[in-house]
Amino acid sequence: MDSSNKKRVAIIGAGPSGLAACKHALAKGFVPVIFDSGASVGGVWTRTLASTKLQTPAAAFQFSDFPWPAGTSEFPSHDQVLAYLTAYARKFGVLECVKLGSKVVGAEYSGASEKEVTAWDRWSGNGEAFGDGSGEWHLTVQHIESGSIQKYEFDFLIVCVGRYGVTKIPTFPPNKGPEVFHGKVLHAQDYSHMEDRDAAELIRGKRVVVVGSGKSGLDTAAECAEANGSKYPCTLIYRTANWMVDHKLTWGLNVSKRTTTRLAELMVHKPEEGFALSLLATLLTPLRWLLSTVTETYYKMHIPMRKNGMVPDCTISQSLLGWKLGLLPDRFYDLVDEGSLVLNKCDSFSFCADGLVLDTGKRVEADVVILATGFNPDQLLRSVFTSPWVRDIVSGASSDTMLPLYRQVD
Ligand SMILES: Cc1cc2nc3c(=O)[nH]c(=O)nc-3n(C[C@H](O)[C@H](O)[C@H](O)COP(=O)(O)OP(=O)(O)OC[C@H]3O[C@@H](n4cnc5c(N)ncnc54)[C@H](O)[C@@H]3O)c2cc1C
Repeated sequence: MDSSNKKRVAIIGAGPSGLAACKHALAKGFVPVIFDSGASVGGVWTRTLASTKLQTPAAAFQFSDFPWPAGTSEFPSHDQVLAYLTAYARKFGVLECVKLGSKVVGAEYSGASEKEVTAWDRWSGNGEAFGDGSGEWHLTVQHIESGSIQKYEFDFLIVCVGRYGVTKIPTFPPNKGPEVFHGKVLHAQDYSHMEDRDAAELIRGKRVVVVGSGKSGLDTAAECAEANGSKYPCTLIYRTANWMVDHKLTWGLNVSKRTTTRLAELMVHKPEEGFALSLLATLLTPLRWLLSTVTETYYKMHIPMRKNGMVPDCTISQSLLGWKLGLLPDRFYDLVDEGSLVLNKCDSFSFCADGLVLDTGKRVEADVVILATGFNPDQLLRSVFTSPWVRDIVSGASSDTMLPLYRQVD
């Protein structure tokens, strides 16, 4: 028997990445265990707004070895995404490897000192996943139901914690923050984690303010506006608009994405064609600029963003690279026209007893304020590791247009 068959692999997170990692670890004959703090597999798809749908077309959000069921719509609902991910895990024997309700509170590498690791040019010094076989990962895991803490040892660690576990909450000067407000303040993630019935109860007949114009801000605001109508309009407070496009009008994006993806594929798969490659690389920038400009003009013509002060400051390419491009919720601008949704641009705001005071001088009365103010993915990643120096290795410098990857691979 190959010695690799005995290798123990820890995977943190049972979202799409962790499930795929586990399937491949099983296929290689390793012994994987997935730890997830949640109550079921599927990652973010286990806890979303009732209205959340896949915003990537299903064909682009698909495991290469596991097609969607026949007849699946182009933008499946969150329930369908969850069912798809669970079916994948079941088919490949991944479900048996998952320990749910198990939060990894510390991962520590034993077998090499900080000095030795810093001197490595490649992992383990030789670039092999398991090095010389002497290193081990020690995991401290909190089992949420029992509250017990248990230690585990593994030969390899795969971190698939996603980007959405640690929320970003704005800070305020004394007496200007949520403490002076008489209503309820919560983060959009807490709202989306609520049972649908409880979430509906929380906002019913209330003056809701949503802060933030990212995908979750717009989805949350649209959901509240649909629920309460123009009698209790929802107010969306935002600093800058993002590119949010109508799913019925995605041709520009598709053309732009398909063209750049095809060119990138050519560059990867035909590296011997040096001249063609460098020519393509030179062509890529102006081509992307051209596609971006044409696409932006098209969307500005077809989506009433100008009329509503929602034209983004950045280009659509910058949005795409920074993962800030999203699909507009259904009927978003209809809700504005009907008076169920009010859009308010401002640079900053503070709380008062009965709502918010915007830096424009406007006061917005509120019963519930939902902060769709984003996440801190670096903090989530760092929180997994015990040693400060390992934390520094895993979280590189952040950038608006690049996802931080291990050792800044891009
Ligand atoms: C509302 C919403 C809509 C989205 N829509 C799309 C879309 O349409 N298309 C697209 O491509 N992407 C979309 N995304 C991005 C989304 O991140 C991916 O779809 C996908 O879920 C990422 O998978 P993942 O496995 O990397 O992370 P996640 O799905 O985030 O899973 C991470 C898992 O790690 C667990 N975890 C974290 N820390 C620990 C710990 N210390 N111990 C144990 N477990 C831990 C979490 O409980 C979670 O289950 C969306 C995200 C959100 C929030």
